[in-house]
Amino acid sequence: MSNFSSDEEVITLKEKLQHSQLVFRDLALKSRRETTILKRLISRLIAASQAQDDPLLHERLSQIRRELEAQDDVSRIIPQLALVERMVNRHTHTQKKASDALECQFQQSGETLKCLTGLPAQLKRDLRNLLQSSGSESKSSTDKIVALLQLYERALKLLSLPSNGLSAKELLNIDRISQLSSELQHLITELDFDDEVGDRLLDIRNRLLLSPDAQTLLELTLESVQLILDGTRNERKASQAFLSQLNEDLSILQRHNGRSIDNSQTISTQRSAFNEELASSVNAIETHLEEAESLEQVRPHLSQVAVNLSSLVARNKELEEREQQLLEQLKHNDQKLEALYQQTMDYRRRLGDQERKLLLDPLTKVYNRAALDDRLEHEYRCWLRYQTPFCLAMIDIDHFKSVNDTYGHLVGDKVLKVVARSIHQCLRDTDFIARFGGEEFVVLLPDAKPEEREEMLNNVRETVSKLPFKFKDSRLTVTVSIGASMFQDGDSTVTVLERSDGALYNAKNNGRNKLIWA
Ligand code: GH3
Ligand code: MG
Ligand code: MG
Repeated sequence: MSNFSSDEEVITLKEKLQHSQLVFRDLALKSRRETTILKRLISRLIAASQAQDDPLLHERLSQIRRELEAQDDVSRIIPQLALVERMVNRHTHTQKKASDALECQFQQSGETLKCLTGLPAQLKRDLRNLLQSSGSESKSSTDKIVALLQLYERALKLLSLPSNGLSAKELLNIDRISQLSSELQHLITELDFDDEVGDRLLDIRNRLLLSPDAQTLLELTLESVQLILDGTRNERKASQAFLSQLNEDLSILQRHNGRSIDNSQTISTQRSAFNEELASSVNAIETHLEEAESLEQVRPHLSQVAVNLSSLVARNKELEEREQQLLEQLKHNDQKLEALYQQTMDYRRRLGDQERKLLLDPLTKVYNRAALDDRLEHEYRCWLRYQTPFCLAMIDIDHFKSVNDTYGHLVGDKVLKVVARSIHQCLRDTDFIARFGGEEFVVLLPDAKPEEREEMLNNVRETVSKLPFKFKDSRLTVTVSIGASMFQDGDSTVTVLERSDGALYNAKNNGRNKLIWA
């Protein structure tokens, strides 16, 4: 029995031994594999540390590799690995600092380029968008720096390379001239002079739309200033004439009134004297009647009283006539006063109209830039206080220059009017639209829900694209691009205008007739 049992034990021990050998072999294999992986990792780290140009880290890693080659016990190198980990951490920290410094340098270099005078508008827009996008994570710092370098290169080329026989400086000047002429053109549309001055300013405005050269721009500017002076002088003269006429009428009225008061006082004095005389005649009759014993005795006295009374009747008639004259004079004064009142009311109405016109764009009849500044400030304050969603959108007509070039600026003007009216009709009563510049409008949508805003702006875009313009028997399709943005914490009116402008720029780059949010 015992033998049998010991045989069984021997067999079990053998099996256990075999199993242990198998486990040991597996473990050894695993350990060798792990050591190989570790060696490979260390080799890669050594290569990376070379690229990072960090000799200390490189040396430490090389030492670990040597030790790994020399011995199989990986656990001995664990303290060294901890050291490496600390070094890598330090390295990450240094790299973060370097990347912050790079970002700072990027912003500074961008601002320096921005300050360069005479850069073309397109380059400035590209630069502004690049600097704005730098806060977002969408671009790596290398991409951003490459983009900035490309802008520098473009600016340098513009400054140094001649093109079409024109130097870069001249090209920049041309860009500036077209900018100035468009600003002058826009300023003229804000003026509102009647008569010849108004007609001549309109003529200048039309000539400014034909891309004038520097010399012509100067002449047109001078002529505009002269016309504005003439117009202002005329208006001042008209106001002075009105005021002096008013003054004269008032002093005549005052003289008339003085005379009426004198007359009325004289009449009143005469009327009291008259009454006293009448009373004394009546008294005399009574006394004579009381004292006389017979009617015969009274008769001579009565004839004297009758004479007095008939003189009094004549004076009374005279007094009545003078009172009538006084009444007529008072009536005349009253009419004159009423006429003066009407005149001043007319003048007040005209001033009111002018004040309203100061806030309207004369061509499109929507609000102008001055009105936008006021309203934007007001809505911004409301948003700061109540935090209700507030949206600002910039709308720009696509390829408008080609409308002018193909059909002439009068058709361009018509298109501008119709587009402005259509946009206006798509908005709610509480919304606001202003002409921001040439063919650009800004709308303010205070207190609109997200889906409402999206729907309204898309409706604006679609409505304009469906407008049935027809010129010279050909159908003209006009579209607009829209850049929109919501006010967010930390925003100012300028940042939101810039953000919407950036979105508008993206809408243009994405094929136009698009609404893009930023
Ligand atoms: P984009 O799609 O990129 O906006 O191209 P665009 O042609 O619309 O833009 P660009 O800025 O090149 O041209 C705008 C043109 O609008 C140039 C200017 O002569 C014209 N313009 C500006 N104000 C008026 C105006 O009051 N009346 C007319 N008829 N044209 C105007
Ligand atoms: Mg345009
Ligand atoms: Mg434009």
